[in-house]
Amino acid sequence: KHSYDIIIGPDLIEQAALQLKHSLHKQDFHQIRLAIVTDTNVASLHLGPLQEKLTKNKIHTVPIIIEAGEQSKSLSTLQTVIDKVLAARLERGDCVIAFGGGVVGDLAGFAASIIRRGMNFIQMPTTLLAQIDSSVGGKTGINSQYGKNLIGSFYQPRCVIADTCVLDTLPAREFRAGYAEMVKYGLINQPDFFEWLEKNGKDVFSNGPIRTQAIMRSCQFKADIVARDEYETGERALLNLGHTFGHMLETATAYDSKRLIHGEAVAIGMILAHQFSAQLNLIDPILTQRIKAHFKSIGLPTKLQDIPGQLPDAATLMSLIFQDKKVSQNNLIFILTRGLGQSFIAKNVSPDAVLSFLKQKLAKI
Ligand code: NAD
Ligand code: ZN
Repeated sequence: KHSYDIIIGPDLIEQAALQLKHSLHKQDFHQIRLAIVTDTNVASLHLGPLQEKLTKNKIHTVPIIIEAGEQSKSLSTLQTVIDKVLAARLERGDCVIAFGGGVVGDLAGFAASIIRRGMNFIQMPTTLLAQIDSSVGGKTGINSQYGKNLIGSFYQPRCVIADTCVLDTLPAREFRAGYAEMVKYGLINQPDFFEWLEKNGKDVFSNGPIRTQAIMRSCQFKADIVARDEYETGERALLNLGHTFGHMLETATAYDSKRLIHGEAVAIGMILAHQFSAQLNLIDPILTQRIKAHFKSIGLPTKLQDIPGQLPDAATLMSLIFQDKKVSQNNLIFILTRGLGQSFIAKNVSPDAVLSFLKQKLAKI
């Protein structure tokens, strides 16, 4: 196992050259070549300034721009990235930088892990979700026709550089979706962080010390869980809070033009996980109301009624849950809770109980 720095703060692109030099600790840094993998949106907004800084420092850069969107987590885009890195004759000691959201991070990280049996790799996440979640923890990969993230590797970066200013150009909806995952960390096992977000959450949306603090705390939390359980044999599964119901809703609405994005589905999923916990008499329903109120104040969806378009019936939703890789037939694993920030892994949740819960929820629409 190796450890690495996570650097978080404003205007880090300005200092990128310095940070990279530090992390790659090469004798003659100027000879290192960097492949910058980024997507069309991030390239048009932020690639220019980053390249300018690096070029000024006499660092040779090879920009590799992929189409923005989840469909780029594919074998064909992976092939393109690999070919471009090899065509530019980058060696093992050179470096691949992922400059973008989780899509770019997962794809570029996987490419870096297999090119020449593993090149230097650096994460420069540009979405809130990527800064607090996907860039930390070393999971990389692409999708297959059989499901999301089914081809990949565990590959840790040399360092993570999260520039909080870059988030200013992120669409509000993407920002809120990332914020939902931040709230998740509080709900898992840090009630004080949830309470802090109730008071300060709105300020995360503007650039300043609160934003930096919130991102730092989130990364620390994720890094700690990953350090204790890198390969998800135990407590790392807590990070799936809200994700079984969330994935169910994401898949159910995938073909709708007004579909939910991941963080929105997870926000509703976390509410459902709390409501389900209440139904099992694990928590007081008032707790769910409190979390709902916070999500609403941020502009996140909280209930099935907030989903545009038609949802399938309960039996179909149930089949989507069974498709999810976190469950096996007749033995549903759910992250449930015993109170604010008291989540736990429930290993024997009865499918019948989930089905009747879903029926009851759908009946209220
Ligand atoms: P994304 O990478 O698609 O980015 C969302 C959108 O924001 C894209 O359109 C992108 O072009 C745009 N964008 C990115 N940065 C921007 C900026 N600064 N300004 C303006 N626009 C910007 O999506 P995401 O939400 O960052 O990541 C989702 C992906 O992350 C999924 O594929 C998911 O599977 C993966 N993920 C991985 C892990 C992990 O541990 N590896 C964890 C969670 C999620
Ligand atoms: Zn998630």
